[in-house]
Amino acid sequence: MRVTVDDDACGGHGVCVGLCPEVFALGDGGYAHAVATDIRAEFEGLVAEAVSQCPERAIHVH
Ligand code: SF4
Repeated sequence: MRVTVDDDACGGHGVCVGLCPEVFALGDGGYAHAVATDIRAEFEGLVAEAVSQCPERAIHVH
């Protein structure tokens, strides 16, 4: 599983960071990015939850 954040869509709410800080972080501009793009199996469930809870639908898995 690979994950990316669409920084044009991200609203900087931080829901993803709260769910899985091992994968997501907020940058200086206050928007999220993936700190790890190749997701280890143990985090796949949390990443899927972040996808479904992101208010802007900005997280994409591939
Ligand atoms: S939950 Fe979505 S909108 Fe909020 S910081 Fe994460 S990617 Fe951005």
